[in-house]
Formats: sequence, C-alpha cells, structure tokens
Amino acid sequence: MKIARVDAIQPETPGSPPDWRTQLGQIIVRVQTDDGLTGWGVGGGGRACIHVAETVLRDLLVGADPSDVEGLHAAMFDHTSFYGRKGLVIMAISGVDLALWDIRGKRLNRHVAQLLNPEVEFGRGIPTYCTVFDDDEAETAFTAGHVAIKLHVERFGDDPDVSAIVSLVSRTRERLGPTAQIMVDAFARWTLQTSLEVADAIAPFQIEWLEEPMLPDRLGDYRELAKQSPIKIAGGEHEYTAGGFRELIDLGVHHILQPDINWCGGMTTLVEVYRLAKDAGLQVCPHRGSEPFSIAAIASIDPTPLAESPRRWFRCLTGMPDDRGVGTQLQPGIGFGVDVSEQVKIAFENHAD
Ligand SMILES: [Mg+2]
Repeated sequence: MKIARVDAIQPETPGSPPDWRTQLGQIIVRVQTDDGLTGWGVGGGGRACIHVAETVLRDLLVGADPSDVEGLHAAMFDHTSFYGRKGLVIMAISGVDLALWDIRGKRLNRHVAQLLNPEVEFGRGIPTYCTVFDDDEAETAFTAGHVAIKLHVERFGDDPDVSAIVSLVSRTRERLGPTAQIMVDAFARWTLQTSLEVADAIAPFQIEWLEEPMLPDRLGDYRELAKQSPIKIAGGEHEYTAGGFRELIDLGVHHILQPDINWCGGMTTLVEVYRLAKDAGLQVCPHRGSEPFSIAAIASIDPTPLAESPRRWFRCLTGMPDDRGVGTQLQPGIGFGVDVSEQVKIAFENHAD
C-alpha cells in the first residue's frame, strides 16, 4: 500500500470573515492510496497551502507507506523546516496529517476516536460552549438554551472602553444565572496593561477564562499576565506544533491550551499536546472542538471534555454538528466519519494537477 495522490482545494465558504480567514481560508486535502482508499483532511492557508500540499508535500509523500502517520508527520516537518516550522506550512501539514489519520481509520475499519481509545463511547453527551460575536448571536444562543457562552469582545477595539465590556459581561451573567460558564475572547487586540485592566474589572463576574488578549508571540507579557490576572488565561489557537506548545507550557503563559487541529499540525500534534498538558496538569480545550476532527480527540482522550461551537460558515463536510445545538456527541463512523459535499467533489473533479 502506497500513497498515490495528494491534492487540495479551497471550498467556497459564504459568510466567512472578510479577512485572512477567507483569503487564506480552509482547504480540503485529499490523499488517495494505490489500493483505493481516500482520506479527507482540513487544513488552513488557502491557495498558499494548496501549493505547499501539491508541491513539496506531494513530492515527499507519493510512493510512501501511509500507515506510518507519525513518521510521515515528522518527515513533513523536517522537509519544510527551512521555510515552515510555524504558520502556513504547518496549516498545510495539518490537512495532510488528518487525511492520513482518516486513511488509518478506514484501513482498520475503525473510527479515529477508537484508535485513540478503544473504549470510547459513541453518543455520550459532551458539553459545548457557544462562541458569539455580537448581541444577536448571543440572543440566539440564550434562546437555544446554551449555559456556556464565550463573548468575543474585539468589537470594542484595541483601546476598549473597559466599562462597556463590564456592562456586556454583567448583562450576560444576569441573563444566564450564577452557574453558567462565561468566557471572554479579545482576539489578540490588547496590550498587557489593557489585558490586566479588563481582567481585574470582569473578575467579579466569575469568568471561566480570558482568551488570547494579546498577540501570540508576546510571551514575556503573557507570562506577566498569567502571574497577575485574577482570571485564568487561555490561548494557543494560533500556536503551531507540539514544540510550540511545549514552549508555552514551559513558560507557564496559559492555564488552558486551545490547539486548533486544522492548523497546529493535525491529530498527530493534538495527541502530543494532550500528553504534554497532562504531564503539566493543564487543561486542553481545542479551538472549535465540536467540528468532526477535534471531536474524535475530545471524546476519546480528553479528561475534561468541552467542545466549542463550530464555524457557522464552514459547511462543506458531512458530519458537521448543528451550530445551534446545545451539547454534542461523537457520531459513529469510520475514519473521521466525514465525507465532502457534492460541491467539493465537483471542485476536485475540475481541479487541475
Ligand atoms: Mg479565540
């Protein structure tokens, strides 16, 4: 059994944010073997990562044995180290790695979650939290019955009126009651001083965590914040590779790690991050965890499962959860249990080598 073909497309994603998340949007990677198996993975990085997947990664992978997923993951990282290591190239590797895990599951006629933990239970309830970007989305989440909500506050800007954030958090706490989980995500807009000011001001409302308040590489500032903040600090959706997460753990900058399986290096990296976090006594809460790839790890190896709502604009896979749903569960299936939409199949048919 050998890898016969590696290709990728960027699907249409109406409604995706009009920034890098569209320009360098999610790609679907297809890996095919010479004995007829097809693995699907999702990576990031748009056309840039399609190019990476279909040149340097394809050259490395075609003819290789797909069953050595971890070995191929290491080989892809080494092969791209001169220009990779973090960012776009790892987003491309993530998509390929997931497609290889999908093939591994299909070859063994098992769900990937069963490969990670043979005792995993399909259909067991997994709590979710709903990420909301504005008041309308919050209202929809309240109405649906969500009792864990993450408020995005980047709409208040780089130099926010702290009282406006306090008012939003206070209204949300009042609406949801004392036992609900409320998180706050600043999407890397603030300085250390602003982050501390906001953390102090919202702490009385029992906030579960403050997420990524500063740019991801401001590790010195994060260290200070983690020491001084009265609220737990979460981050890591823009970190790459197990080595990157090891550095975050060693520096003690986050209480909760949020790897994104489609960006950080795929399932091979996510499994390693879980292992590192366990050794360090830290919680892992994967970015947009209720989507079909992360959920396999959350359901099978996560000691404190909590899955973030999926991206509303990413609808080109079957097996995507209903974004209005409260709670989720792992659905039975083989591989990751996903297929691609007809539109994606046509895009691959029309896709030139
Ligand atoms: Mg975030």
